Amino acid sequence: MCIVNNVFKTLQFVFLKLMILLLIVISPATIANTIVYDQPHEKLSITSALELAADANRNILIADVITSDSKVPFLPISETGSNIGFTSTPYWIKFTLHQSEGTPPLLLEFENPRIDNIELYLPQPDGSYIRTSAGESAPFIEREYQFRNFLFELPQHQGETQTYYLRIDSEGSVQISLSLWSYSAFIDYLDSSNLLLGSYYGVMILLMMVAAAFYLKLRDTLFLTYALYLLTYIIFQLSLNGLSYQYLWPEAPEYSGRLTAASVGFVGIGGYLFAAGFLQIWQRHSVQLITIIIFMICLDSLGIGMSLFGNYSLGVKLSTLAGLSLPPVVLFSAISSWRSGYRPARYFLMAWIIFLCGIFVAGLLYFGLAPQSFLTLYSIQIGSVIEVILLGYALVDRAILQQAQKVKIRELKGESLVQKNLELEQLVQARTHELEENNIRLKQLNLQDSMTGLLTHNATIELLEQQLHIAVRYIQPLSVIMLDIDDFKQVNDRFGHLAGDGVIINIAEILKACMREADYCGRYGGEEFVLILTATDMWEAAVLAERIRQRITELKLISINNQLLSASFGIAEYSHETPDADLILQADKALYRAKQKGKNCVVTDHTPSIEALTI
Ligand code: GH3
Ligand code: MG
Ligand code: MG
Repeated sequence: MCIVNNVFKTLQFVFLKLMILLLIVISPATIANTIVYDQPHEKLSITSALELAADANRNILIADVITSDSKVPFLPISETGSNIGFTSTPYWIKFTLHQSEGTPPLLLEFENPRIDNIELYLPQPDGSYIRTSAGESAPFIEREYQFRNFLFELPQHQGETQTYYLRIDSEGSVQISLSLWSYSAFIDYLDSSNLLLGSYYGVMILLMMVAAAFYLKLRDTLFLTYALYLLTYIIFQLSLNGLSYQYLWPEAPEYSGRLTAASVGFVGIGGYLFAAGFLQIWQRHSVQLITIIIFMICLDSLGIGMSLFGNYSLGVKLSTLAGLSLPPVVLFSAISSWRSGYRPARYFLMAWIIFLCGIFVAGLLYFGLAPQSFLTLYSIQIGSVIEVILLGYALVDRAILQQAQKVKIRELKGESLVQKNLELEQLVQARTHELEENNIRLKQLNLQDSMTGLLTHNATIELLEQQLHIAVRYIQPLSVIMLDIDDFKQVNDRFGHLAGDGVIINIAEILKACMREADYCGRYGGEEFVLILTATDMWEAAVLAERIRQRITELKLISINNQLLSASFGIAEYSHETPDADLILQADKALYRAKQKGKNCVVTDHTPSIEALTI
């Protein structure tokens, strides 16, 4: 238990005590423990000249202190230390003041606004003492001086040396710091102090509002977390300065200490959540670190709960413990985030280092290792202002980075869309080309007989129709020859189907060789062919047919029943008198007649004289 208390005393030294250094000034020299106020325009810190006595049994009365001073175990503050910490023991404080001639009326300031009860015993000329009370447990409005710290008027005893006693009793953390002021010095200080604190809180509140505005504009929850972190930090600082009691809850003395204690937990949670969100700890870091942060947030929450509803000195201890682990956790996370290539982490790291430097400088001042100056006196405030400004900058930098990434992604998407469109277009073109080629091939397949390379049946009919139109329009003759291989079945039967194919191919070649450029030739059926002869009359057609017939007989490929291979021909001519007549049918009829006549001959559809051509 003793070790725990010592640990907490040390923690308080680093954290809470350093936080209230704003108004602490190290004491100048005193003469043999008797304080002499001889510089009427300055503040005189008398802390180092104090003597303290613990009243562990709560049984020491003012009468005991006055009458048998030696019985009360007063010790110089240099032995006890001014930082008592969390204690339920009341303390008696004693100091001796010599007011030389010309000493102005003096004010005594107790510079810790979080003491529940303070009693000041003022010596009277008759040797008795008058008690004056103050403390956070009384409503703020009842204070004689409406000031954040406790102020007492000291009666003038010019040329006399008097001993003063105070009794403090507080549940919260106790740090003892007393100062003497002349009225004029205090008014000067009040002016500059109000200006400084006003500027400090002004900057913090402004930053908080800007963060909230950014959140409303960008809907980035991290800005909201930042605004809430600032809010908790502002309330925490206000509580440490005693300003929250003065302005936020002046009529709630019973809760003031509790709310102040809770503010430590809230600022811890705010800090952890903001750091975790900013450094993307949930996404980027190890389970161990996340577990530590969640544990600390739970500890803070427990601290808040206890501060508000339970033992608040234990509550604030828990919150302080969680708060003290915030800097190492944040520094570790920021460094590892930065090293993993997360650019905004460096501003975050810088912000925290500056804040910790502020605390460090305050520590140096506390130990008398740094000279008193504006920078050292207000190092925590300066550090925290720079910290939050840098954090805000880091947030904006992060938002800009995200926007740039979004734009890049959009551009890439756009580019890839254009690229995709181009590719799609090319693909469509290629497909179209392929389709066209296929269509051409299909068309050719449909138009061209694969075996002979002549027109197919359908293509022959279609072409004949076209040529008929032309013949009608230009009043030109048009003739059709239909030929059929004689006794072809026997060829197949005797020499096989393949040999039959060969005959068909050979005859097709003869037809191609005999016809003119403007003529068309189609394989109308198995071994039947049709020739369309443009601008050709029946006589010319008959001459051509005869030539073909002869060429076929000259083939002499196969001998069938001692006969040569032959074909029969039927010819028809388009007549303008009977435009609707079916030329193919007419030619077929003529062919039929040629077969009837004994095959291997040319027959026209209606002119007997042609038949004379037949051999
Ligand atoms: P005709 O003198 O009266 O015309 O007698 P034909 O034997 O030539 O006539 P038919 O109509 O009785 O027989 C035609 C034969 O042609 C029947 C069929 O097997 C054959 N044929 C049709 N197309 C092809 C083909 O592409 N290749 C082969 N090898 N034979 C075919
Ligand atoms: Mg036939
Ligand atoms: Mg035949």
